[in-house]
Amino acid sequence: MGFNFQDIRKDFPILDQRVNKHPWVYFDNAATAQRPKVVLEKIREFSVITNANIHRGTHDHAIRTTEAYENARDIVKEFLHAEAREEIIFTHGTTESINLVARSFCEKFLTTGDEIIVTEMEHHANIVPWQMACERHQATLKVLPFSDKGELRMELLETLITKRTKIIAVAHVSNTLGTVNPIEEIIQIAHSHNIPVLIDGAQSVPHASIDVQKLDCDFYAFSGHKIYGPTGIGILYGKRSLLEVMPPFLGGGEMIDQVTFKKTTYNELPHKFEAGTPHYVGAIALGSAIQYVQNIGLDKIAAYEHQLLNYATNQMKALGDLQIFGESPAKTGVICFKLDQIHPFDLGTLLDQLGIAVRTGRLCADPVMDHYQVTAMTRASFAFYNSEEEIDLFIKALQRIRSMF
Ligand code: PLP
Repeated sequence: MGFNFQDIRKDFPILDQRVNKHPWVYFDNAATAQRPKVVLEKIREFSVITNANIHRGTHDHAIRTTEAYENARDIVKEFLHAEAREEIIFTHGTTESINLVARSFCEKFLTTGDEIIVTEMEHHANIVPWQMACERHQATLKVLPFSDKGELRMELLETLITKRTKIIAVAHVSNTLGTVNPIEEIIQIAHSHNIPVLIDGAQSVPHASIDVQKLDCDFYAFSGHKIYGPTGIGILYGKRSLLEVMPPFLGGGEMIDQVTFKKTTYNELPHKFEAGTPHYVGAIALGSAIQYVQNIGLDKIAAYEHQLLNYATNQMKALGDLQIFGESPAKTGVICFKLDQIHPFDLGTLLDQLGIAVRTGRLCADPVMDHYQVTAMTRASFAFYNSEEEIDLFIKALQRIRSMF
């Protein structure tokens, strides 16, 4: 399959509807993406036709669901170019993946007086779990700032690193600024000090192909629902050498080898980190979502989305008195902005009246709001099923709303 916009659009019938009597324009893709028919069909298949708990039964349906679940793990392994399928852990999403590492890695490696580095542009999901770990272990959280342009101040990274730095956690792509961070460089600097790196890939996997071996990152986390898959499913990639020595995150069924009241021994990877009945339908459907984007080609997706980003940015700038937050040349299709003095909540509500869905608020990134000294932002974010015609509607809507104030 190539990149044919009309064909692609047909895969997403949800987009073909009206909201408030206007054609629906969905520009809230960074919050959650819509799912193509193949993914919805997979969810249906493993709900209506086939259903049984995995890894537990010897009957036909249990074998089918187990095989499909483990096959999805192989799809993710290939997608991330991981070395081994044991390095792919199914979680509920990026948030749980980061919490798993912050809990388990820190229990093993973090002690009083140690330090963790995050950046100023992180989503709360990549701040709060580390803060909680620091509280548990009397450690310190250090923050790498970004410039007003929305780029990490890389010249400061070495000055933050000390002998007590135990892990660095950074977003591959910022959910507010859209900046693609220089993670290769960060990983290289961190590794020269023997510090592992966790990459929050929630906003990058839908837009770029990832090779965790080439990157040499130690952990990589992402969510299914941002890459056209279901909610409630996510991935943690971790290097086997680290996952093996980390204690389990949750206790329960499946993660054990043997249980006695005296002592419990734990299962092998990846099951050690998959306690309880997982969201196997979600995992299977995530596999389909990944195959869907692979069939189109992530390079083609990225190029098309970049075209949308440039088109929208130029038109928005031409409106005048519109501030865009985050202007790095290395950017994905995310535009956070402020139009005149119109409050983002008013703007979002009025755009919705005109059929356009954007995200407004603090975007789970309070430190980014504080950096720019704003209480909230409006965010338009694009996917490959959006079009320049939709951007035209958006620009017209902004002009109309402005004229009302
Ligand atoms: N990290 C980033 C950069 C995000 O954009 C998001 C969600 O918007 C998350 C983490 C959290 O993802 P989830 O809510 O799917 O766990």
